[in-house]
Amino acid sequence: MKNVLLLSIFLSFSPAAVFAADNAVLITLDGLRWQEVFSGLDRELAVHEEFSEQTKLLLERFWRDTPQERAETLLPFLHNTVFREGSFVGDRDAGSCAEVTNDWYFSYPGYSEILTGVVNDSIDSNGKNPNPEQTILELLDSKAEFAGKTAAFASWDVFPFVFNVERSGLYVNAFHPEVNPADEFEEMLTQLHKDIPTPWVTVRNDAFTHHYALSYLLREKPRLIFIGYGETDDFAHNGKYDDYILSAHRTDRFIEEVWETIQATDGYRDNTVLFVSVDHGRGEDPIETWQHHASKRSLSGYMRSLAQYEDGIVGSEAVWMAAIGPGISEKGLIMTGSQCIGSNRIAATLLELLGEDYRQINPNMGSPITEFLQ
Ligand SMILES: [Zn+2]
Repeated sequence: MKNVLLLSIFLSFSPAAVFAADNAVLITLDGLRWQEVFSGLDRELAVHEEFSEQTKLLLERFWRDTPQERAETLLPFLHNTVFREGSFVGDRDAGSCAEVTNDWYFSYPGYSEILTGVVNDSIDSNGKNPNPEQTILELLDSKAEFAGKTAAFASWDVFPFVFNVERSGLYVNAFHPEVNPADEFEEMLTQLHKDIPTPWVTVRNDAFTHHYALSYLLREKPRLIFIGYGETDDFAHNGKYDDYILSAHRTDRFIEEVWETIQATDGYRDNTVLFVSVDHGRGEDPIETWQHHASKRSLSGYMRSLAQYEDGIVGSEAVWMAAIGPGISEKGLIMTGSQCIGSNRIAATLLELLGEDYRQINPNMGSPITEFLQ
């Protein structure tokens, strides 16, 4: 009796946050559709004259008999490790739904929602405007135990504004070569960065983002690191389905390398959560809308160039999420019915796993995704 009483007292005083992990890695792929994530290569797009020059290569490497086999062939690490040993959501064909909470369905509002947990309606463009909201990297950096222990790496040149580096003072390595390479490897990376043509005016090759991030991770041992890969979205906007697919496959390998590095490193091994998501989806019907993403509301503003699609790009609010590591449930696919899980809940989920109560940090955040937690 006494033990039961003690136990109930203990439970009633136990902290709300789970404190499952010392560290977290948050990874995003820009606009990689749930359709490819869960069904793999789209045959119609792979053989489409306008959208794929490398049809033969795509079919050889990524076409298989079933959607499950195709998905596993395209994204082997996500399927065979993260989905199998962790939790994931967003396979709409299977009754699992995730969506952005913002009203726009493009990048800045999507990333801000993921990183701050808050939907601020004034963030209505991809313009280089300093974020009025604070990311969890900035919020944690103000606590002694996280100070200087958060950092971000990204291919897109708008990220310094998403993180509001002027206010936050966070370390954000985005788009540009590193100004102060820390060692010989980073010097080489920086040299190549300057010598290899940049594929887009606002987005660099993800390989630079990836290798700068891994180098920093091993050297500085941050407790929360964000890696934003960008190529998938830009190849899609360019109408290059073959390059979009090859980039998705390559990014899956990058994510595997991040996880392998974590599991091979003292202080990170079995002590670090990996969370993966996207900032928006893309269209599906009519077929050419796979290239685009925009809400109906955005057509009268930032996305007016897509105004011929009167309802916006239907389906581009659809996203997916996956996580693996301590504190993450191993139940695999989370069934949601029509109750979609919103991207504004990712920030509080990570705070919870790191032992912080989001309500004390910013009560306006979406609540933690309890379905993902043990
Ligand atoms: Zn995007």
